[in-house]
Amino acid sequence: MTEPLFDTLAIIGPGLIGSSIARAARAQGAVRSIVATARSPETRKRVVELGIADKVTETNEEAVEGADLVIVCVPVGACGAVAQEIGAHLKPGATISDVGSVKGSVVRDMGPHVPAHAHFVPAHPVAGTEHSGPDAGFAELFVNRWCILTPPEGTDARSVERLAAFWRLLGAKVETMTPEHHDIVLAITSHIPHLIAFNIVGTAADVEEVTQSEVVKFSAGGFRDFTRIAASDPVMWRDVFLNNKEAVLEMLARFSEDLAALQRMIRWDDGAALEALFTRTRAIRRGVIEAGQDTPEADFGRPHGHDD
Ligand code: NAP
Repeated sequence: MTEPLFDTLAIIGPGLIGSSIARAARAQGAVRSIVATARSPETRKRVVELGIADKVTETNEEAVEGADLVIVCVPVGACGAVAQEIGAHLKPGATISDVGSVKGSVVRDMGPHVPAHAHFVPAHPVAGTEHSGPDAGFAELFVNRWCILTPPEGTDARSVERLAAFWRLLGAKVETMTPEHHDIVLAITSHIPHLIAFNIVGTAADVEEVTQSEVVKFSAGGFRDFTRIAASDPVMWRDVFLNNKEAVLEMLARFSEDLAALQRMIRWDDGAALEALFTRTRAIRRGVIEAGQDTPEADFGRPHGHDD
């Protein structure tokens, strides 16, 4: 086993992502010890029972005292308030990061609370499932998935590299980009697909000619995958859409235009145009499989879910 990259890791919000980081960091020997904290006593108690941290503290301030790497794993709308609480308690030279699915708002909300003696390296592991909480996490979640780092200009290069090495040790592939670019890319690859899933499942539930039991009974034909995605955490996704508003609305406008074009093709019996589009999308699917981002089997080929 390699030398640990950090001495003490503090996880704030050991839900699906935070508890997976704790499990993976321990499994890979990436850190010497792990401290975790959550706002609710129930989650703190569960983390103790699961034994995925060496120490569980009651407050965020206590958790970060002496930590070399702090990872904030709460919904993006709560990141600013957490940073405000812990900023003054960060150890000199500590790296502070997050896992938020939106990066512009996290940089805006957390950045001002990070003291000059700490290094702020925002991150987004593009890996997840529709489950939540400390029981849902697993050590292999990040294997072969991307982790995107969005360090603000002027961030200490060694801290960025050390965090990149941490994520690689957990199995991820690392890429660096600006927060703005991240938010556009993720709007189209993750946020809009989730919005479509939330919408279609909501629509199906409201279609009066089709009963609820029929929706469930005949769900195999494509709808089933949407229901899995639409079961994702409501608070997390509320925060994603409220905090990546511009990019999502921009991509949604493009999507709506293309949907209108599809509507026309169907209305005017333009089979050639429909076939041409479906041929193009089938080739994209092949590209995703060839890039190792999925397997050809149904249900995404993974026991647990999808990317976010
Ligand atoms: P989760 O399983 O629901 O865990 C969320 C954690 O945040 C819990 O420990 C919860 O504490 C805490 N929390 C919730 N609201 C809070 C608040 N207002 N103040 C302080 N703590 C709060 O969620 P998750 O799926 O791990 O998501 C966490 C972060 O990862 C989000 O920013 C999300 O955008 C990002 N992310 C998620 C995925 C995914 O697929 N799920 C993928 C990549 C990145 P309690 O348990 O005490 O309530």
